[in-house]
Formats: sequence, C-alpha cells, structure tokens
Amino acid sequence: MTPQPVPTVPQTVADARHLFDAGRTRPIAARAGRLRALRALLTENQPAFEAALWQDLHKSAGEAQLTELNVTLAEIDHALRHLRRWARPRRGPVPAALWPARARTVSEPLGVVLVIAPWNYPVQLLLNPLVGVLAAGNAAVLKPSELAPATSALIARLVPRYFADGAVRVVEGGVPETTELLLQRFDHIVFTGSGTVGRIVMRAAAEHLTPVTLELGGKSPVWFDDDAHLHQAARRLAWAKFTNAGQTCVAPDYVMTTPDRIPALVDALHRAITDMWGADPRTSGDYGRIVNERQFDRLTALLRGTEVAIGGEHDRADRYLAPTVVTVPAPGPDSGPARPVLGPEAPHPLLREEIFGPVLPILAVNSAERAAQVINSWDKPLALYVFTSSARTRRLFEQQTSSGAVVHDAGLIHVAATGLPFGGVGASGIGSYHGVYSWRAFSHLKPVVHKPLLMDTLRLAQPPFTRRRLGLVKRLM
Ligand code: NAD
Repeated sequence: MTPQPVPTVPQTVADARHLFDAGRTRPIAARAGRLRALRALLTENQPAFEAALWQDLHKSAGEAQLTELNVTLAEIDHALRHLRRWARPRRGPVPAALWPARARTVSEPLGVVLVIAPWNYPVQLLLNPLVGVLAAGNAAVLKPSELAPATSALIARLVPRYFADGAVRVVEGGVPETTELLLQRFDHIVFTGSGTVGRIVMRAAAEHLTPVTLELGGKSPVWFDDDAHLHQAARRLAWAKFTNAGQTCVAPDYVMTTPDRIPALVDALHRAITDMWGADPRTSGDYGRIVNERQFDRLTALLRGTEVAIGGEHDRADRYLAPTVVTVPAPGPDSGPARPVLGPEAPHPLLREEIFGPVLPILAVNSAERAAQVINSWDKPLALYVFTSSARTRRLFEQQTSSGAVVHDAGLIHVAATGLPFGGVGASGIGSYHGVYSWRAFSHLKPVVHKPLLMDTLRLAQPPFTRRRLGLVKRLM
C-alpha cells in the first residue's frame, strides 16, 4: 500500500474549516460522540501512552495514569455529564424600555481551534484543552511538542483512527511547522508553554484578530510556616516539587521560610524524598529524567556556587538530576531596596528565571508579610502554595498577593479540580480553561433578542422627537 501524502499545513486547516462550515461538529450528539471517541483513544491505548511517556520523560506508569491519562479522562466525563446543560439557551433579562421583547443567550462554537502543547505533560496539556474545544462544537488542529517525540508520534498515529471524519487533525513538528500554522487563520488559539513563545503566538494571532488562551509559567512560590505538621507538609511539598522531576508548570519553584525553620525543613524534606523515591532516586522506577541535554545543562549550571543541602548528584548520559534542595541566603529588607530578590536582576541565578526542574531553593525570609512583599516584587506567578495552620496567614496571602491560583497545605492538586478555572494572571497567562471555563473560552455567547412588531413601542425612540416622548423613554430606561 502506498502511504498517503501528508497534507500541507494550509490544506490541513482548510479541511478542518470545511468540516466545521458543513456543520458536522455542531450537533450535541456529535460532540458527545467525539468526546467518547477521545475517551476510547486514551483507554484503548493506555499501554502505548505509558510506553511513550516512559520513553520521552521516564514517566512511570503510575505517574502517567495519575497526572496525564486520568486527569484527561475526568475532564471528558465531566464534559459529558454537563454538556447538555451548558448548551441550553438561557433566558436573558430585558429592560422595561425595550418591552415587550424576549431575550436569550445561545452558545455557539467558534470554528477551528489550534491547540499548541509543551513537552512536560505532552498528553494532558494537548488533550485537556481538546475536551473543551470539542464539547463546544469546534473542529481542532493539534500541535504536540516535538520535544516529546514518542508521544507526539503516537497521537499523530491515533487521531486519524479515532476521528476519521477529520474533526481533529494533528500537525507534528517544531518551530517551522508552528510558524506556518500561526500564519493561518484560526478562530481561537490555546497555547501552553513559555512566555517567550506565548508572545510570538499572540503577535501572530493579532494579524487575524484571533482570541488566545495563553497558559504560561513563572516562579510559583511557597510559604512554609507549619511547625505542627512539619512532616506531612514537607512530604506534600516534596511530592509537588519532584513529580515529573520538577518539570511541571505549577511546581513549587522556591520556598520561603524563617531562618530558624530551615534545618528542620531540610531534614523533613530529606526524609520525604527518601520515603517516596528511595535513598538513591536514580534507581527508582518512579523518578523522572530531564527532557533533553539542553535543559540538563541549564539546570546543572544553576547549581554552580550553591549550597546543596540535599541531592545534587547528576549524570548527563542518563539525564538524571537528583531531587535537590539548596539554601539561598535571601536578602532581607536590610540588604537595601535596590536589589530585587526575584527576576533578572536577582543576585542568585536560581531566582532569576523559572527553574522548571528538580532543584528547590529555600530562602530565609523573616515573616509572612515579607514573603508577600517578595512575591509582589515580580511577575504574578501561576500558583502560590501556603503551608500554615494559621487562618490569618492564609488570608494574608489570599488578599495581599496575586497568582493564578492559591492552594493551602498542598501543591499541584488544583489542576485536577475539574470545574475550577485553571490559568494564570499577568505574566503567568491569559484566560483559563477546564470544565465550564473551557466551554466559555471556546464558545461565543450570543444574545438573541426578539422584539415583536405588534405593540410597536420602538416608535418612542424614533423621530420626530418630542420632549414628552424623550422624557418617557428616559424614565423607562
Ligand atoms: P515552549 O514555549 O518552548 O514550547 C511550547 C510549544 O511552542 C511547542 O509546541 C513548540 O513547538 C512551540 N514553539 C517553540 N518555539 C516556538 C517558536 N519560536 N515559534 C512558534 N512555536 C514555537 O515551552 P516548553 O519548553 O515546551 O514548556 C515549558 C514552559 O511551558 C515553561 O515555562 C512552563 O512553565 C510552561 N508551561 C505552562 C503550563 C500551564 O498550564 N500554564 C503547563 C506546562 C508548561
């Protein structure tokens, strides 16, 4: 059998648009059918997904299920459960000045949506947005990450089998292919990745006035002040940080705690790491690897000149970097106002950029108030984690800082909270998705107003204007 020629990027987008324009993605039954097809794609090929994720990221089967497949399946089931309710037109209010009239809001699909995904959760971050895109009745073009090649190839192979009509299409590749995709007109673009590429995407989208959802990154801080539950809290912190070898957009990036709490925290983190990944995490089947040499070199360079408290062992051939904790002498308020703690001007390289790997710096900060100042001194983060037994401290961070989300006494878990909006704010992203928020992001909420011709009260607003008429209209409005 001769292989089918790969369609060009413009042809792929045109074919998707043709299908959308023919109305094939709109009926609710068709949407539900596609969601079930996506479900089948994941469940019937679970071993293949686990193998691909192991090959790309050394992700164990357990972690693959927990953080990639199950999260997406939960999103599908949630959408299937609520789809009909979301799709129902809703009555809208009509002001007295327009009576008699009726209004409703109707959700309509946007058209063809482009989803661009990163490599760190190459299944979830590609297919989770797709759930909302399909539920809302759109066609989709998917661009998996070229840096998770096994997963990308698997998805490219499976999608045509499960979406034989072409409502979902895949374009594989890196910068040239994405650049070509971005030249096409889409009706929405969902991009997950770095702020640098996010800006490129937004600039390209502006050419076609295409709305965007940008899921970006940043330095997600932790305030750790719980003495009462030190070991439980440290275990949750270590799990959130070192899952997927720290390559998680919402991973805790750095920890702030008071100077006298640091030794106990380091000790508790050490115990937690050993408990979860063993004394030598390299031999653990549950500990990941750095995605490629470039990222490995960047991370190990960040370690130079730091005081390693835990871990630090690394092996380039295996792209292994141990769960590592370092202590960083943080400048307090007394170090002078001119030197920022975070951002490109920070004294320590670990505090200048998002770490995105298994290195956790601990900064000595004297109080929760000071920690809030540090957080507010730079870009708004994607998540903020607060470990404390004090309700007052929880409130302080909720009210005096801004971040994509706040989680108390845990990390990462809000990503799995289907039904809550997931997204950043400021530099950590634009827009949000998951559950009904995906529905809202990928639908147009269209008001439909009907003003019957009889009882023609609109005459009041038409010339010739008399003082009496204008006065009446003003009172009604
Ligand atoms: P990236 O921005 O380098 O790449 C993301 C996608 O953009 C890939 O599909 C890639 O092919 C494409 N791309 C790369 N360079 C491009 C260019 N010049 N022009 C057009 N397209 C280009 O991101 P990454 O390295 O894959 O992921 C890491 C970043 O993503 C981190 O900053 C992380 O915090 C962020 N992230 C955010 C979330 C979230 O949900 N908010 C989730 C995961 C990762």
